[in-house]
Amino acid sequence: MSTKPTPICGQHKQPKEWKQTTFEYSEDGITVRVQKIYAWVCPADGEAAFTPETADELHRTVREAMETAKRARARRSVLTEYIVSVSANDQMKLAS
Ligand SMILES: [Zn+2]
Repeated sequence: MSTKPTPICGQHKQPKEWKQTTFEYSEDGITVRVQKIYAWVCPADGEAAFTPETADELHRTVREAMETAKRARARRSVLTEYIVSVSANDQMKLAS
């Protein structure tokens, strides 16, 4: 987390910044966007490196969101875009 030494981007040789970023994952025409999650972000190209705990949680969240979106699409739901609040700081946006 933020108390650990600041990692350096191996490619750009610059210290990364601990800040909020957005994670996006697309599969099968569905995009899951998880907003406001903290990660080490390279100032040169904006590439985010997530901590193992965050990566685990992201994987689970995206998996569940993807299944929900696919079910909605299968029953031809008119609700093609919606936001799921995970907590006060995290929002998950689904678009299909
Ligand atoms: Zn970099």
